[in-house]
Amino acid sequence: MNELDTLFQNNEQWANAIKAEDPAFFEKLAKQQNPEYLWIGCADSRVPANEIVGLLPGELFVHRNIANCVVHTDLNCLSVIYYAVQVLKIKHIIVCGHYGCGGVNAALNNFQLGLADHWIRNIRDVYYTNRTEVDGVLDSKAKVDLLCELNVKQQVSNVCHIPVVQNAWAAGQPLAVHGWIYGIGDGRLKSIVDSIDSLDQIPEQYRVAGL
Ligand SMILES: [Zn+2]
Repeated sequence: MNELDTLFQNNEQWANAIKAEDPAFFEKLAKQQNPEYLWIGCADSRVPANEIVGLLPGELFVHRNIANCVVHTDLNCLSVIYYAVQVLKIKHIIVCGHYGCGGVNAALNNFQLGLADHWIRNIRDVYYTNRTEVDGVLDSKAKVDLLCELNVKQQVSNVCHIPVVQNAWAAGQPLAVHGWIYGIGDGRLKSIVDSIDSLDQIPEQYRVAGL
């Protein structure tokens, strides 16, 4: 037996269970997707986006990378956000971090991860900007968790500085950006940033030209 056979068996059971509940489910889904939410989360296997918020296929547009970063030169993430806002007209962008994030821990404790160091550098910048607050926490686990929260706040700001997001607001398109964090130890989500849904919440220095 192939060691991946279990995954195909699981898939068959999963598809059958959904079909038993709604016989036309996959047929309807094949025609179009109409999600209201874009999830930007960590690639960590313990933070599966759809399961956490109890949403079915078709209800959540998802982008995941190490430590849920939104980098203004990352064509991958920018393309996802562009498509979600401009084409799918999603109403909510959720940046969701998690406590105990390995990427955040690496940035804080100066671990070398090879190629990923370049990516982690984005979180080092968050640490450097907030070093007084972070270094004021003595407990090593609490320190990582604080930087996890600060990272979410920074990534929420980064989403709001993207032209397609600001252009949507200028055009009157309903769109809100949220910052959440997930506890791997208790399975609970928590909002840690006031939602942002208009241009006047964005500092002038980050406004897109002409807005
Ligand atoms: Zn993580």
